[in-house]
Amino acid sequence: ATPTALLVGTGRGAQLGVLIKGPEVLENTRRADTIVLDKTGTVTTGGMALVGVSVAEGESEDEALRLAGALEHASEHPIARAVAAAAAERFEHSGGLPAVEGFENVEGLGVQGVVDGHAVVVGREKLLAEWAQHLTPELAAAKAAAEAAGRTAIAVGWDGRARAVLEVADAVKPTSAEAIRELRALGLTPVLLTGDNETVARAVAAEVGIDEVLAEVLPVGKVEAVKRLQAEGRVVAMVGDGVNDAAALAQADLGLAMGTGTDAAIEAGDLTLVGGDLRTAATAIRLSRRTLGTIK
Ligand code: ADP
Ligand code: MG
Repeated sequence: ATPTALLVGTGRGAQLGVLIKGPEVLENTRRADTIVLDKTGTVTTGGMALVGVSVAEGESEDEALRLAGALEHASEHPIARAVAAAAAERFEHSGGLPAVEGFENVEGLGVQGVVDGHAVVVGREKLLAEWAQHLTPELAAAKAAAEAAGRTAIAVGWDGRARAVLEVADAVKPTSAEAIRELRALGLTPVLLTGDNETVARAVAAEVGIDEVLAEVLPVGKVEAVKRLQAEGRVVAMVGDGVNDAAALAQADLGLAMGTGTDAAIEAGDLTLVGGDLRTAATAIRLSRRTLGTIK
């Protein structure tokens, strides 16, 4: 390979919104046949909003939002920001949100801590189950309805009982479906990989044209998922944005980090897609292949 041609490819990449770690990275794009896509923040905007609150009988919607909002205020997760923002707004003129003690982030599951003397848990049903807190039939119904509508349902419990379900919605980026079409045209099979539940993941996948879905995957499991695909003989490119994607981006044959994502993801990736537009992933692969074509 002539270094000059590789460097020309690298420079052209920068113009097109693709930052390439080093010219040697281009070599890895040729054989990729599978592209794994993180959901939140990659296929979707990650700009989540709180769109509903359901409470168990006898519980107060305000209290659920106040305690959950206070706890989520300590987390950086897109879901947490949506809940904290909605709570901060609701209680802006009535004392604001209480402080949190002993805050703990349970990666890929949710958050827990003490708020106003209550032991509060917010996150997946599975996390509440670890505290022997189970959704009442009415909360389970609210969760199922939210998920059927393609929303993410977050459970809220405190002092030993599940008491509310929060609904958070995250829109698919307007360019994601077109990006998937372009990636398929380049011979790549898309796979959606997410920590979110199966129903929500399927709804998003259907909206953008992805058939293969790996859902409810914990952050550590994302690396394993990539390894499994590689063990099947597939050559894997991966696109991600989160701290929870960093290890999988490093494991992939080609790691593409969203420039709008976390530093951890950008550091782990081989390429950075400068804007938040997933079509840049196709641009990056097309450019790399063309550059290699001129070298051969
Ligand atoms: P993704 O793989 O789509 O980027 P994550 O692995 O970050 O998602 O999170 C997986 C799931 O864990 C979320 O869909 C949510 O149900 C739950 N979760 C994670 N962090 C939080 C949090 N701070 N608050 C509430 N729920 C959370
Ligand atoms: Mg993500």
